[in-house]
Amino acid sequence: MHRILIVEDEQDIADLIGFNLERAGYEVLKAYDGIKGCELALRERPDLIVLDVMLPGRDGYSVFREIRRDPRCAEIPVIILTARAQTEDRIHGLEAGADDYLTKPFSPKELMLRVQAILKRADPAPGSVDFEHGPFRFDKNSLKFYLSNEPVELTSTEFKLMLFLAERAGKPQERNALLRTVWGYSDAAYSRTLDTHMKRLRQKLGTYGAWVHTIRGIGYSIAQPEE
Ligand code: CA
Repeated sequence: MHRILIVEDEQDIADLIGFNLERAGYEVLKAYDGIKGCELALRERPDLIVLDVMLPGRDGYSVFREIRRDPRCAEIPVIILTARAQTEDRIHGLEAGADDYLTKPFSPKELMLRVQAILKRADPAPGSVDFEHGPFRFDKNSLKFYLSNEPVELTSTEFKLMLFLAERAGKPQERNALLRTVWGYSDAAYSRTLDTHMKRLRQKLGTYGAWVHTIRGIGYSIAQPEE
């Protein structure tokens, strides 16, 4: 059974979401402020977190960053709730790497659909893996990525970068080739974006980040690191 943590100070919203999730067969944990929410997330490591932004104690973004910093919790999918529909918030939330985003008011059904979609995506299906190199495994259809058989959430951009490099492992790939493959064209303006993505990708690979090599003046390659 999947466990879902709801961090939401508006008790009637928390209860409504909780009621619907429980009825759908999920186990529900609840916290009504940011401090308690963060504690529960780190201690209980739920399968998914529904996190409100405006919270007493500490706000949702601060809770989110702390959860992501903890290696044991970094992969827990998070759905951010906000009362404000402003674009800045949306960008802020997505930049911070939230898995999804809902603006209040939303229907419990809408939340339920998002929850189900995310949990389905996070469930491993090792049978359908169709490319493998070293500790890296790729399912090209569902864009699922596994690191030593553990599913790791990659964005579609990160997945494309990783697959392109892994399929050409041992051979340095030029920046222009990477830009063309992933963004469709090579433009100097995207050069920094490439480095940002590679940096985040390395972080997600943890100790296996050492497999990703920066080739000065050329680009990147994937190869087993030397001892
Ligand atoms: Ca709130």
